Amino acid sequence: MASHNLSSATPASLVDPFGRTVDYLRLSVTDRCNLRCTYCMAEDMTFLPRQQILSLEELRDVATAFVELGVKKIRLTGGEPLIRRDIIKLVDAIAGLQGLDEVTMTTNGMLLPKMSQSLKDAGLARLNISVDSLKPKRFKELTRTGDLELWHQGVQAAKQARFNKLKLNAVILDGFNDDEVIDLARFAVDNEMDISFIEEMPLGVISSHERSATQISSAHIREQLDSEFSLVDSVETTGGPSRYVHIANSSSKIGFISPMSNNFCESCNRVRMTAEGRLLLCLGNEHSMDLRSVMRGNPGDTELLKSKIIQALQNKPERHYFDPDKIDIVRFMNMTGG
Ligand code: SAM
Ligand code: SF4
Repeated sequence: MASHNLSSATPASLVDPFGRTVDYLRLSVTDRCNLRCTYCMAEDMTFLPRQQILSLEELRDVATAFVELGVKKIRLTGGEPLIRRDIIKLVDAIAGLQGLDEVTMTTNGMLLPKMSQSLKDAGLARLNISVDSLKPKRFKELTRTGDLELWHQGVQAAKQARFNKLKLNAVILDGFNDDEVIDLARFAVDNEMDISFIEEMPLGVISSHERSATQISSAHIREQLDSEFSLVDSVETTGGPSRYVHIANSSSKIGFISPMSNNFCESCNRVRMTAEGRLLLCLGNEHSMDLRSVMRGNPGDTELLKSKIIQALQNKPERHYFDPDKIDIVRFMNMTGG
């Protein structure tokens, strides 16, 4: 078989031209979703035809290639990862990869009542569960179809399954749910979970609101939290974009993900695979490589796949430039893999 220039000289780790080591992959398993969050999707989204989506085997092959190249953590995402058929089998296959520290997932929680225990048994280490409102009517408005009661049942099921850690993800939109910052943090503390507050990013054209009008910075969110909790700054880093604070007298941490107000690109350690097999080098840029055609054109050739990943990494941009007034990135978050 051709060597594709990958021999013993193959780097054990993925390092980009700016010296950043990539050891974290976000793998989108579907662009479809059972919700339609206003800031994430247009109301009348069209989804990819099924044959364009990576098969279970292709997802596993991609994960294997990345782990062989030094990736230590894989997060399964989407769209909604739990609506992907055979997701449990995929978790099981990825969790068994030698060299991987953990496989985690971000979910909207709607299917957790049924699936929490199987996910845990298959080897999923941690779960991020998204929630933007604890008010039933508002939850329905923000998700267009979601049922908050089902979400609560999902959280309880996840707690019973005893994942290593549970974290809430909340996107805060000024004028919509900025009055719930404290309630959301309180819910996290009461349930011994962490919580991350995320600034809305201008990904995709939406009609529900003007993104520039709903921007609220992590600094403003932190001010609100400071008025209610005793927050202790943390030096801890996951190597990712979150800045953390501890809440005194609790086991909970609060993360601030600030892609708009605080550029964190210099410590970026991650890449994303879209559901149709496009390796995205940066959330806020279109630099990418089509790995699906590599796999479909050369089935089973892991060495070629790895060499293409190494090659793609040379195009990782130094940073993103988001402007809420301008939609430079037409790709929606469900296409991107959050
Ligand atoms: N469906 C799953 C969920 O909602 O958790 C996983 C995919 S979703 C795209 C991942 C995360 O991205 C969610 O926490 C969601 O709130 C966040 N998100 C979606 N669109 C966003 C946007 N435009 N800006 C910032 N975060 C966004
Ligand atoms: Fe679906 Fe998650 Fe996007 Fe909401 S944020 S529409 S749950 S993919």
